[in-house]
Amino acid sequence: MVQSAVLGFPRIGPNRELKKATEGYWNGKITVDELFKVGKDLRTQNWKLQKEAGVDIIPSNDFSFYDQVLDLSLLFNVIPDRYTKYDLSPIDTLFAMGRGLQRKATETEKAVDVTALEMVKWFDSNYHYVRPTFSKTTQFKLNGQKPVDEFLEAKELGIHTRPVLLGPVSYLFLGKADKDSLDLEPLSLLEQLLPLYTEILSKLASAGATEVQIDEPVLVLDLPANAQAAIKKAYTYFGEQSNLPKITLATYFGTVVPNLDAIKGLPVAALHVDFVRAPEQFDEVVAAIGNKQTLSVGIVDGRNIWKNDFKKSSAIVNKAIEKLGADRVVVATSSSLLHTPVDLNNETKLDAEIKGFFSFATQKLDEVVVITKNISGQDVAAALEANAKSVESRGKSKFIHDAAVKARVASIDEKMSTRAAPFEQRLPEQQKVFNLPLFPTTTIGSFPQTKDIRINRNKFNKGTISAEEYEKFINSEIEKVIRFQEEIGLDVLVHGEPERNDMVQYFGEQINGYAFTVNGWVQSYGSRYVRPPIIVGDLSRPKAMSVKESVYAQSITSKPVKGMLTGPITCLRWSFPRDDVDQKTQAMQLALALRDEVNDLEAAGIKVIQVDEPALREGLPLREGTERSAYYTWAAEAFRVATSGVANKTQIHSHFCYSDLDPNHIKALDADVVSIEFSKKDDANYIAEFKNYPNHIGLGLFDIHSPRIPSKDEFIAKISTILKSYPAEKFWVNPDCGLKTRGWEETRLSLTHMVEAAKYFREQY
Ligand code: GLN
Ligand code: ZN
Repeated sequence: MVQSAVLGFPRIGPNRELKKATEGYWNGKITVDELFKVGKDLRTQNWKLQKEAGVDIIPSNDFSFYDQVLDLSLLFNVIPDRYTKYDLSPIDTLFAMGRGLQRKATETEKAVDVTALEMVKWFDSNYHYVRPTFSKTTQFKLNGQKPVDEFLEAKELGIHTRPVLLGPVSYLFLGKADKDSLDLEPLSLLEQLLPLYTEILSKLASAGATEVQIDEPVLVLDLPANAQAAIKKAYTYFGEQSNLPKITLATYFGTVVPNLDAIKGLPVAALHVDFVRAPEQFDEVVAAIGNKQTLSVGIVDGRNIWKNDFKKSSAIVNKAIEKLGADRVVVATSSSLLHTPVDLNNETKLDAEIKGFFSFATQKLDEVVVITKNISGQDVAAALEANAKSVESRGKSKFIHDAAVKARVASIDEKMSTRAAPFEQRLPEQQKVFNLPLFPTTTIGSFPQTKDIRINRNKFNKGTISAEEYEKFINSEIEKVIRFQEEIGLDVLVHGEPERNDMVQYFGEQINGYAFTVNGWVQSYGSRYVRPPIIVGDLSRPKAMSVKESVYAQSITSKPVKGMLTGPITCLRWSFPRDDVDQKTQAMQLALALRDEVNDLEAAGIKVIQVDEPALREGLPLREGTERSAYYTWAAEAFRVATSGVANKTQIHSHFCYSDLDPNHIKALDADVVSIEFSKKDDANYIAEFKNYPNHIGLGLFDIHSPRIPSKDEFIAKISTILKSYPAEKFWVNPDCGLKTRGWEETRLSLTHMVEAAKYFREQY
């Protein structure tokens, strides 16, 4: 019999219960027991939901109070010494590693001051994991037995689960050496780690677990030979142990084909593969499956919100059954459902037709079950028919197709994506307009989003204040920010973005073709969740989106004010994209909408326009090859389509954070000035790569995630260091990113010191 399986379910709760509980605990509002109770309730609720939906293979240990990778670090005692010296409880140690901890001494507790471990994006998703950090002094041992406890908890409810664990090779490969052990290669720790996995797997078996899901998502990357060898070694080792649960080796987010040699013939019961993201791997994967192994067919998308096409999915599963037989095929979600919102039924404001296009995590449970039933010959005719109708109606929906947009995308040519003259010629024309000093100073866009701003925005959204009153309020905020910048002597000003709730949503709400949820939260990291807007159809801009605020800001100062937009790639990456057209097409539609906005800003007298692309890097395909090189080309082209409609004398800026960006990619955008997050980087080699870059760069000089205020001398020291490898005539002075999460007092002092440092250098040159 074909079985249905879910690889993981969102843990945040249908109404963000987990966020409220963890933040409540951090703020001392609830006790640790109350926190644990919320965790238990959420797990119970999720298991029951899956059981009632009829899912055969239900995951456990997919719950976490912070991050599942961090849970493993705690479980295996991969805890740097700086966290152990305070005698914190396990849960407080976990939170300290995840988010840092600063606490004054009390009568009963020591003072604590420790920063968080590094946080990194989980593959190409917007989820962030806490990076395992290994030291030569790491003493591997088991701390507790979370996976076993949660298995038993479900068992008590009468639900037999399949525990999930991140596999040893991915765990090590995604980690790094700590500062005290820089020459340590994490994969060299495999031999120490494998016995611990065996121990936890044996305990699971003793507790009654018959199967486990071990995730090795690194198998979709370009794996070096030592990592491929580690995969062989680890799973051969598990195969040699007796009495372990059966292992499903799970991969997702891409194709495993380039690593098939490492997987083929391993003594695991099943292989899970993502056929949503990489359907092209089907034949090769099926051919590589051993004659007793099961194939778990990942066919219900764990990364997006579109309703499954049952007919198409069933055909793929049937093809697998033809080759392998029904007993050796499982119908599964493509990855954990962690990356999708919890329940579509909580959406009260979506247009009914549009709502019919979507399926969130709860609905995806039914999808897995219906496909499984269909394959097994059970009667699901009604569900199939409804699904076919819905899929067909989406294809024809008036919300989706806009012939004018399609025609315009088709007409994009080289001229549209090229500035009228090269940078060398633009620069003197711009200099004539702005007459900027050496070391020009600027900020990245947003100023503190105060409580007052949020209150007024809420009032406006609820209708308790009128549009005129709100505009007056926003203008007064803009004026405050402009006066402040003039006062401290910044050169290129910003309006401060007080009108924006979020840098993507703000524009999305003004672009036709987008839909928004009221409760579609997805965990980004820890207790930070995002609510990505959804690209439903062809995108177009009915009218100007940001001109009013920029024009007002420019009207009250003689200094240049930057128009401020979010770039096409960032709009695309921080939304749920369409699955019926490719990403390039969507990026180009956004680029055209933004091009109109850029041109409107210019026509309204705005002389500097910044188009932010902080998500440029995360869009990079996971593997080297044609897809990745194509992305380099079209992502840069989309940016240039948005920004090339202006005159030479109009100065285009761009901004990047979360970098590790390839300097060549930045160069391909041909922005006149770029600002790059840099304060925590301190990497002379990175600066050197820009040496021959003709355009201008501002390397971020202070960390905007921290309330710390750098002194003038600190700025001077930083700038001096950069000047050793980067020329003064191309040097802009700015922070790492926008200041919206900071308080006004810190902002005032930090920026004042930054401007003073720039003035100091002007006198030196
Ligand atoms: N202009 C935006 C801001 O300052 C940029 C945000 C970002 O790069 N994440 O807030
Ligand atoms: Zn930024």
